Amino acid sequence: MLSKLRSEIFNYLASLGKGERVITRIDFEGPRIAIYTAEPMVFADRNNIARDLVNLIKKRVVIRPDESIRKPDENVKKFLEEALRGFSANIIFDNSLGEVVIESSDQELFNFLTQERVAALEREINWLITLSRTPLHPSRTIEKLKKYLYGDGEERGEILRKIGENVFREQIFEPGEVSITILGGGMQVGRSAILMRTRESNVLLDFGISAGASKNIDMLPRIDFFPELIDNLDAVIITHSHMDHHGALPLLFKYGYRGPVYMTEPTLPLMVMEHLDYLNLAAKTGQFPLYGEQEVRMASRYSVPLRYGAVTNITPDIRVTFYNAGHILGSAIAHLHIGEGFHNIVYTGDFKYEKTRMLDPATSKFPRLETLILESTYGATPIPFTREETERLFSEHISRTVNSGGSVLIPLPAVGRAQEIMLVLKDLIESKMIPDIPVILDGLLIEATAVYSCYPEYYSLESRDEFVRGDSLFFSEYFTLVRSQSHRDEILESKEPMIVLATSGMLEGGPALTYLRSLADNEKNLLLFVSYQVEGTLGRKILKGSKEITILTEEGKQEVVKLALSVEKVDGFSGHSSRQQILSYLKRVSPKPQNVVFVHGEAEAVSSVAGAARRIIEANIYTPRNLDSIIVG
Ligand SMILES: [Zn+2]
Repeated sequence: MLSKLRSEIFNYLASLGKGERVITRIDFEGPRIAIYTAEPMVFADRNNIARDLVNLIKKRVVIRPDESIRKPDENVKKFLEEALRGFSANIIFDNSLGEVVIESSDQELFNFLTQERVAALEREINWLITLSRTPLHPSRTIEKLKKYLYGDGEERGEILRKIGENVFREQIFEPGEVSITILGGGMQVGRSAILMRTRESNVLLDFGISAGASKNIDMLPRIDFFPELIDNLDAVIITHSHMDHHGALPLLFKYGYRGPVYMTEPTLPLMVMEHLDYLNLAAKTGQFPLYGEQEVRMASRYSVPLRYGAVTNITPDIRVTFYNAGHILGSAIAHLHIGEGFHNIVYTGDFKYEKTRMLDPATSKFPRLETLILESTYGATPIPFTREETERLFSEHISRTVNSGGSVLIPLPAVGRAQEIMLVLKDLIESKMIPDIPVILDGLLIEATAVYSCYPEYYSLESRDEFVRGDSLFFSEYFTLVRSQSHRDEILESKEPMIVLATSGMLEGGPALTYLRSLADNEKNLLLFVSYQVEGTLGRKILKGSKEITILTEEGKQEVVKLALSVEKVDGFSGHSSRQQILSYLKRVSPKPQNVVFVHGEAEAVSSVAGAARRIIEANIYTPRNLDSIIVG
C-alpha cells in the first residue's frame, strides 16, 4: 500500500517540477501519512501541497522537515526565546517528528502567536511549531499523561506506524451490509458499547462500565459472546470521557488488544483522570480492580486524538469524523462513513441539543446519514422548565437554605456538570441573585477543571471569547479549592453557611460523602442533586426517600448515617437532551435518516421516546436490548 501511495505522491510532486530528492521519507503516523522533505520551499509551501495531496489520495497528510534542513536545537531555542521575549513559555523539541512544542498558560502569548506569526517563525527555523496550553493550576493528570506518552518516544512512534499499516491495508471485500450489535447500553443507562461490523472491519463505539452493578456480568459490556473479537478488532472510538462510555477500555488492553483508540483531544486527559480515580477508589475500598495502571498507560499510548471536523480513515472502508455533542468538554458525535458513501452512521454518544454556558448545542447537520443511533436518557421525562427557569429554581433553593442559616451540598460528577454549575454560581453571585458566601470545591472536579482550562477551542463561542479576553472563567475569588484532609476538616468545623461542590455525583465515593456525613443531621441543610442518579447508586436511594444510609468512611469503615437534611433535585442542568430536545433533534437532523436506533435509556425512556419518534419521522425505529443486532445497508 505504501509503495502505491509513494508513487502517487512522487507523481504529484513531479507535476510541480519537484524532483524525487525533495522527499526523504514517507511514513505512517497513525491515520496520517507523514512526508519528510529536504526542500525548504516544499516545507514552506506545505499547507497548499498537503491540501492538494489530500484531494488526490483521500488520506490525511502531514509534511515534515527532514533533519538535514532543520536549524540546530540550540540556535532554534535562542531564536524562539528572543522572538517570544516577555512571555512565559516552555520550549520542547521532538526530534523524531521535527516538531517544536511551545507550552504556556499565558493567554497573551496565544493572542500574539497568530497563524501568520507561527508560519513566519517556522520558515526561519524549518521545524514545525505546535502550541500547547498548560493548565491554569497544576494538574497531576496532565503530568502523568505526558509521562505515559513521551516516557519513551520510540515506542509511541512504532505504535503509530503499526496503526497506519492496519488503517491503510488493501481492502479485500466490496462494501455491503453493516451489522450493529449492542453490547451494553441497550434499554439501560450504563456500560455503553456498540460493536459495528462491516465485511472488512470491526469497530467498537464506546466501551463503558455500569456504576451501580454488583456483578461483573452486569457491569461490563457483553463481550463474553465474542471471544474472537479482540484479535480482530480494528479500532475503538470513545465519544466522551464518562466512565459509562470508557470505563472498561483498559480491560481490552489487558486481554491483548493492541490497536488505536480514537477520541477528541480533551477526552484523553479526562479519561486518564477517571481511570486513575477508579483505581484509587478500588484501592481505598479494598475492591479488586478490573485492570491496573499498566493497562491505563497502554490505553493512553494507543490513543489517537482527533479534532472536530477532521475526516480520518480508521480502516480500509471506514472514515470517522467527530462533531460537537454539547454534552461535556470534547464530547463527540461520531460520523462513520462506510465504503465510499455506501452507508453512513451517526452515533450521538451522550448529547445535549441546547446551548449551555460551556458548550454550543450538538451538531445536527451531516454530509450524509442513513442510520442514526441516539441516546434516550431522558426520553420519558419532559423537563417543564426552560434553562432560565431552572436557574431561578436553583437559586431559590440556595437562597432559602442559606438565609435560614443552612449549607448546600451539591454532589457533582467531576467532568461536565461541575464546570457548568461553577459558571452558573459565579454568575448568580455576581448578579446578586444568591448571597455572597464561600463556594467550596473539593475532589476530582478540581483536576477536571484544570484540564478544562487547557482546551478553550472546545468551548462555546461566548465562553471562548470570555476566556481569550483573559477572564479566568473557573477560578474566581468566590471559589475555595480544597486539596487536603486538614483543609477539609477546617472547613467542616466552621458552622457558617456555605455551598459545597464535591465529587462523586451519585455519592458512590469521594469527598461528597465526607460533607454529607457532616451536614446530614441538620434539617436546615440541603442536599441538592443536579445530575442523573443511576439505579442502584446511593444517590438514587436518597432520592427515593431513604432516611438512613450506610456509607464508607475515608478510613474504609461502614457507618450508618441518619438524614435529617432536606433533599431536592433540579433537572434542567442536565448535559443530556430532554425528551423535547431529543424529538426536536429528530425533526431537524439532516439529512433524514432511514433507521433510528435508541440506546442509553432505561426501558421506559426508550419505549416512550421511540413511540413519539414513530409519529414524527418516517424511518425504521429500533429499540434494541443488549446482544441484539441490527443489519443495515
Ligand atoms: Zn456522559
